[in-house]
Amino acid sequence: MRKGEVQIYTGDGKGKTTAAFGLCFRALGHGHRVRVIQFLKAERCGEHVMAEKVGLPVTQCPMGRKSGPCAVPCPLIKEAERVLKENAADLLVLDELMAAIRHGCVSLDEALSLLDMRPENTEIVMTGRRAPRELVERATLVTSMEKVKHFFDAGVPAREGIEY
Ligand SMILES: [Zn+2]
Repeated sequence: MRKGEVQIYTGDGKGKTTAAFGLCFRALGHGHRVRVIQFLKAERCGEHVMAEKVGLPVTQCPMGRKSGPCAVPCPLIKEAERVLKENAADLLVLDELMAAIRHGCVSLDEALSLLDMRPENTEIVMTGRRAPRELVERATLVTSMEKVKHFFDAGVPAREGIEY
């Protein structure tokens, strides 16, 4: 079995979650076992419709909301622990984990202990703005999406099929 790495997609630019889903579809194409756990998100977007069609399990926070902590600790931590302990995924995406840490529903220690539980074959991708230094140190790939321009700043509203 190949060895897994730890990746972070961070930065203020658009594209972190979409990059993570792109990787999921690549891994699925090779028959790998893929799981997505989405913190602070409860909306059903276009990617969720497609995920169901291709058999990609996406678990959202049962109390998901963007503006504050859901519950302390977030119940998704238990779900992530289960996936890792049972070695149930070759690729595990922890989407918006950085935001969950900022909002306080996931502690930095909980995030670090997830990395400690990672089976050698499991690739972990964590996304979200302002990745804590301690997580950056544990990753072997960190990509920062730099916002050069964003049409939101020019008043373009969120559009179906582009933002959701
Ligand atoms: Zn939560």
